[in-house]
Parts: sequence; C-alpha cells; structure tokens
Amino acid sequence: MDANVSTSPGDADVLIVGAGPTGLAAATMLMRSGVKPVIVDKLATGQNTSRAAVIHAHTLEVLEQLGVAERLAGQGLKLNEFTLRDRDRVLVRLRFDTIPSRHNYLLMLPQDVTEAILTQALAEAGGSVRRGCTVTELAETSDGVRATLVSSNGPQTIRARYVVGADGMQSVVRQAAGIGFTGGSYEESFVLGDIEMTWAAGRDQVMLFVSPAGLVVVAPLPSGTFRIVATLDPAPEQPGVADMQALLDTRGPTRANAKVSAVRWSSRFRLHHRVADHYRRGRLFLVGDAAHVHSPAGGQGMNTGLVDACVLGRMLSDVVQGRRDDGYLDRYEALRRPAAKQVLDLAGRMTHMATLKSAPQRFLRSAVLGMLGTNPMFRRRLEMDLCGLSRRAAAEPPQ
Ligand SMILES: Cc1cc2nc3c(=O)[nH]c(=O)nc-3n(C[C@H](O)[C@H](O)[C@H](O)COP(=O)(O)OP(=O)(O)OC[C@H]3O[C@@H](n4cnc5c(N)ncnc54)[C@H](O)[C@@H]3O)c2cc1C
Repeated sequence: MDANVSTSPGDADVLIVGAGPTGLAAATMLMRSGVKPVIVDKLATGQNTSRAAVIHAHTLEVLEQLGVAERLAGQGLKLNEFTLRDRDRVLVRLRFDTIPSRHNYLLMLPQDVTEAILTQALAEAGGSVRRGCTVTELAETSDGVRATLVSSNGPQTIRARYVVGADGMQSVVRQAAGIGFTGGSYEESFVLGDIEMTWAAGRDQVMLFVSPAGLVVVAPLPSGTFRIVATLDPAPEQPGVADMQALLDTRGPTRANAKVSAVRWSSRFRLHHRVADHYRRGRLFLVGDAAHVHSPAGGQGMNTGLVDACVLGRMLSDVVQGRRDDGYLDRYEALRRPAAKQVLDLAGRMTHMATLKSAPQRFLRSAVLGMLGTNPMFRRRLEMDLCGLSRRAAAEPPQ
C-alpha cells in the first residue's frame, strides 16, 4: 500500500459507508463471520424516524443469520392479511398465514426500532459505528481503496481492501465508482404519516384503497398508531390532522368513520425508480438505496437492502478470510441486481395500477383486479412476491 498515507483512524479489510439499516446489517454480518469492518456515518446520531414500516417474511428469514429476527418479531405487530380495495369493495384479499415460511406474517415495525435492534446486534457482535464521519473522497490504489473522511477532528485517511456503499440514494461511493443510476421519477408526490385515530375497520390488516381521488394505504403499527401513505399533489411539507382526515374521507371506505386525533410524525417525498447500472466496480460495492430506489408500494425498499447487505457481508467475509478469491465477488451483482429489478417492476406495477387517472382505466382496473382476485394462483403469486419468498434463491451466495 501507499507508504505516504496516514493510517489513522486505522486500516480495515472492509470500510462501510453509511449506518442506515443496510450498513448496520452488513457490519453485523461481517463481525459475526470473523471480519471487523470500519463503519462510518456522517450523522452524529441515527435518523430516528419511522419511515419503512414493514418487514417481510423472507427478510426475517435472512436476518436470522444476525440473531435479530426474533427480537424484531417480538417488538412488531404481526398481521395476516393485506387487502386491495376500491373504497368499500374488496378487490384482492391476500393471506400471509399460509405462506411457506416460519415467519408467516407481515411484521409492522417503524424503521427507527429496526435500526435500534440492528445497532444493538452490532454492539453484541463487538462492533460500533464511527459517527460524525463523512466520506468525501475514494481513490483506488493498486491493492485497496484510500478513503478521505471528514469529522470534527479534521480530515483523515483510511485504507481498506473493500468499500461497501450503504450511503443511500445520493451515494458518494456510487459516484466515486462512476456507476450510473438509471431510471426516472414519478409525477406524484407522496405523503406519509404515523397517526392516532379511531378506525372502525380494525387493526388486523393492511388496506390499500384506490379511489378517483388517488390511493391511500392504512396500516396499523405496534404502538397503537396507524401508518398512512398516499399520493398527493400539491403535498404539504408536514401533513397535519386535517390533511390525513381528508385523505381517509375521500379515498378510504365510505362508511369507516375514521376520526384522526393526532399526527405523531409525517413527511412528504418525491419518488424515484432507479437501479445502479452495476453493483460492483473494482473494490467498491453498493447495497440498499445506493443500489436501488422505488415506490413504497408493497414496502420493499428497506427489505431488499437488508438482504443485499447480508449476502454481500457473507461473500466479503469468505474473500477476506481467504476461502474464496476476489473473482467470487463478481457474483454479487449477478445475484442481487436481478432481484432489485423484479422489486422495481412489482412496486412500479402496483403504483401504476393504484394511480390511474382516467375514469375508464380505473373502471377497467377494478373490474380486472376483482376477477383476478378470485383466482388462488394469482393471489399466491402476489403473496410470494410481496413477502419476498419468490426471491429466496437470490439470497443464497453461490457455492
Ligand atoms: C420519508 C421516507 C419514507 C419511507 N418510507 C418507506 C416505507 O414505507 N417502506 C420502505 O420499504 N421504505 C421506505 N423508505 C425507504 C427506506 O427508508 C430506505 O429504503 C432505507 O432507509 C434504506 O436504507 P439504507 O441503509 O440503504 O440507506 P439510508 O437509510 O438512506 O442510510 C444511508 C446512511 O448513509 C449515511 N451517509 C450518506 N452519505 C454518507 C457519507 N458520504 N459519509 C458517511 N455517511 C454517509 C447517511 O447519513 C445515512 O445514515 C422511506 C424513506 C423516506 C425518506
């Protein structure tokens, strides 16, 4: 390695940039496999907001390797049913208690709780996040990567054999690798919020309503609140009680008597659908939102990233510990990029279906879905796609 490079704060086999859910999962997987990575995040504390609210069966199966699946399940709310409705009419009813998995449910859990459990698992494995460190530059050398980190102590350099970009949609790792992020943006803005309300339809299922005014998703959360997600244009910066009430009144069931009393957290965002053109360039790798972003329809974003992280963590540990050569890591992209494309396709189809604007198209959509909803094979395929079990093979590092 380059002799002029400062070794502070220390060299590493693997440097992980970003300590969101995917960075934490990758770090824990490496630690549990015998490799001590350096993991840094520019934030002084975690983001601590609710955001991704569902963990699917396949993700829980994969997270068993980190020893967190039972803990997550213990803190979350287990639901068996997901219904797609045109206001009062059920078009498709999906059941998760019959899927072929130990985790035969939808697990509702806010992202800040998921991140806290992953942080605890990392600590139990002997690791911790270096917070307040921003990676500003990455340069490949003949035998590694030289990363420049900026913190309150000034700039520092760290050398690593491999770098994992778990640094979200604006990834500096992806940019340093010169990897394109191909795709586009949705026209609509989305709002989401965790609210308190009385809801006559109960707390035992996720409901996605389509209506002439747009879509609204209502999902119960473990704290007794409900997660609301909806398209809205123009969207207020921080949707309040009246905004949430109006969404439910105009898009939800006509006889539900929803009464919103408080908004605990809310946000608005614009959606993109993009996949990185490659998941690896040289010694730089991408996981999670750095590699793929899409609509929240179906709640797949964080789930796909967590699986990326566990797969790459296992593959890197084999290479770093000499059980495989570097070429083995090329297979990471072959395994995980098609899975992301499937997820983008699924989320895109669901979003398109739920946001149709013209009346004849909406009429046709509800008629076709109502018919397909009676077909058990159609329902099972959708259940397997949503809970991730149809992508099981893409989570197995090749032998
Ligand atoms: C408002 C909102 C609502 C959402 N709702 C849902 C939902 O309902 N369902 C769903 O599945 N998903 C949802 N998502 C998406 C979900 O939150 C992401 O898929 C998930 O957080 C991705 O995890 P990640 O670890 O890949 O990236 P992130 O969570 O974005 O974490 C990236 C980390 O990298 C750090 N970082 C970035 N750049 C650097 C740098 N240069 N140096 C050091 N650190 C750096 C950041 O500080 C951050 O902590 C939502 C997102 C938002 C913003």
